[in-house]
Amino acid sequence: MNWDEFADWSKHIADWGAHYHKTLGDRPVRAQTKPGEVASRLPASPPDKPEDMAAILQDFDDIVMPGMTHWQHPRFFAYFPANATPPSMLAEQLVNTVAAQCMLWQTSPAATEVEGLMVDWMRQALGLADHFTGVIQDSASSSTLSAVLTMRERATGYTGNREGLSGKGHLRVYCSDQVHTSIDRAAWVAGIGQDNLVKIAGQGPLHGMDAAALDAAINADIAAGHIPAGIIAITGGTGVGACDNLGPILKVAKAHDLYTHLDAAWAGSAMICPELHAQFWADVDGFDSIVFNPHKWLGAQFDCSIQFLRDATPQLNTLKIEPEYLKTSGEAVTNYSEWTIPLGRRFRALKLWFLIRSYGLEELQTRIRNHIAWAEELCEAIRELDGFEITTEPIFSLFSFRCPGDDDAQQRLVDAINDDGRIYLTQGAFQGRKVIRFQVGQFDTTRKDVMMAHAVILEVWEQIQ
Ligand SMILES: *Cc1c(COP(=O)(O)O)cnc(C)c1O
Repeated sequence: MNWDEFADWSKHIADWGAHYHKTLGDRPVRAQTKPGEVASRLPASPPDKPEDMAAILQDFDDIVMPGMTHWQHPRFFAYFPANATPPSMLAEQLVNTVAAQCMLWQTSPAATEVEGLMVDWMRQALGLADHFTGVIQDSASSSTLSAVLTMRERATGYTGNREGLSGKGHLRVYCSDQVHTSIDRAAWVAGIGQDNLVKIAGQGPLHGMDAAALDAAINADIAAGHIPAGIIAITGGTGVGACDNLGPILKVAKAHDLYTHLDAAWAGSAMICPELHAQFWADVDGFDSIVFNPHKWLGAQFDCSIQFLRDATPQLNTLKIEPEYLKTSGEAVTNYSEWTIPLGRRFRALKLWFLIRSYGLEELQTRIRNHIAWAEELCEAIRELDGFEITTEPIFSLFSFRCPGDDDAQQRLVDAINDDGRIYLTQGAFQGRKVIRFQVGQFDTTRKDVMMAHAVILEVWEQIQ
């Protein structure tokens, strides 16, 4: 393909994208596809001869698109939001076109400097103290793994990377039982092990861990000869939106000199609203590491996860490696690949720059406040339905409920709603029971879309009785 053809097809795809988004609400949200259906329509082996872009795009429309679930659909209420706003998409087109590897300052100075600035813009937007610097990673999973590796190295006097962990005793990491599985996997991969990830029961209206129980678990571990390494708190757990009470946890961490990481992957975006910061994040500045994903609720498409660091030194001491071929001479500059596990890195900051300039913080705040208000309104409407039960109250824009009947009845309703296609919901578990999760966070969602869920839930439930 030559560059003139590239330009023509790019325009074609831009038109396709606008049409797709304008008609998205008419499609079923979740792909209505059977396992194997898409693959069975594609050739098993690669072509020997070139094929036309027209034919490739035709197959994309005919075979691939019917097998896609529409995360940008205004009635996507499942999992968590994964927004791709138009300015962010435009920035990604530019990033794709230039396709730079941004591992060192020298390999694209502008990428490093825009990234530094965007981390600081977001620090200010989230109301974090000015001692925080940070780095943009691909996912919260990577950011959390970086933090857990840092806990490990700090607790072993920075000897783990060199010597391995053999003979070093049991390193222990503490969190609540409401954390995302990325925390479990970080413990696996960092060599801590699942059995050394100590989970404290979430309790109270926000399902947070009790600081006294946390302190007791740490003391018991010390008495048993284990080595406490760090604490992971959450703001907005994936299951039901659990939020730890940060101040008392930080106090326990300080008393035991433990490294602290806060997972706010989803709900961190809400902290651009000062009233929510005041409610949930009054003590946040004491954390060593904080992760939040602009790629969920804020409008930058995947991937874009910011890890804020109170002091970058422990993480740099953990992850920095400088072989001869990566050495650069001259002034002190930031080389972001030293802050993370992968070496290669995309220019992720550009979409944040486009996004924030294009909307301004006020418009982004309005969306978050609307989503929260509409989730609360829908929750009240579902509470009124005969025999339905609100199992967890709204935290940010997430709540859960049950229809009349046992766990199987919940799954039957979720499946029937998703087969219907007008809205998309997923199930979760809370206190040993199956619940139906509902979250609002899609960028183009209106109040009408949210309230339509009420009618769909009731109608589908009546159909399957
Ligand atoms: C989504 C989510 C994660 C995982 O985020 P990735 O960027 O997909 O790794 C972790 N923690 C919480 C609380 C989340 O909501």
